[in-house]
Amino acid sequence: MSINIAIDGPAGAGKSTIAKKLAAKLGFVYVDTGAMYRAMAYHFLQKNIKPEEEEKISLECKNVNITITYENGEQQVILNDTNVTPFIRKEEVGNMASATSIYPKVREKLVELQKELAKTTNVIMDGRDIGTCVLPDAQVKIYLTASVEARSKRRYDELCKKGISCDIEEIKKDITERDYRDMHREMSPLKQAGDAVLVDSSELNIEEVVAVIEKIYKEKCSL
Ligand code: C5P
Repeated sequence: MSINIAIDGPAGAGKSTIAKKLAAKLGFVYVDTGAMYRAMAYHFLQKNIKPEEEEKISLECKNVNITITYENGEQQVILNDTNVTPFIRKEEVGNMASATSIYPKVREKLVELQKELAKTTNVIMDGRDIGTCVLPDAQVKIYLTASVEARSKRRYDELCKKGISCDIEEIKKDITERDYRDMHREMSPLKQAGDAVLVDSSELNIEEVVAVIEKIYKEKCSL
């Protein structure tokens, strides 16, 4: 049986950075489910579909095929026949993903694929509904969060480092809106699973968070 580690939490809590490092350390496969919602959103944007057009989006789901491959250990998202990994990181795509991930047809499609990936492989999977919906039997569940201020500052620093000019108040507004949407949608809203361990990374650096989660994993799996 495979070992599954589920990491859920709001935007900018550091889930993907932490999950990637931990996966490399433990020899697990890292599955970034947000990237799958982003790839779907990218497709809808390319088709000029508006986020509120549920019927069109639900119909369009039939024309979308998402697959996951790995290149040098890095997850690649293939949308139909195109590797869209380099195009899905923009804020525009993230916001579209948050707006379109509320629709049942979008979620059904991706949850099925995610469950399949975890069946036979030791995975660390991050997202919003992994511990509550995708992998309810995961041996380790983490709810990774941080204050809105800490998350906004991290995103601000990240963008500044890339030479992208930005406004921290705008980022804060964006994160707050995304949190609200993800936590209040009808289907699989973001929430801490009853058996998840809460980790607040506001005052911790990356290595400290990795160490905390590794310790929880070892305790839970009696290693
Ligand atoms: O984590 P990331 O910012 O890449 O996710 C983009 C959006 O995809 C989130 O804001 C959320 O609305 C959606 N998502 C989701 N369920 C997941 C992963 C992401 O609804 N498991």
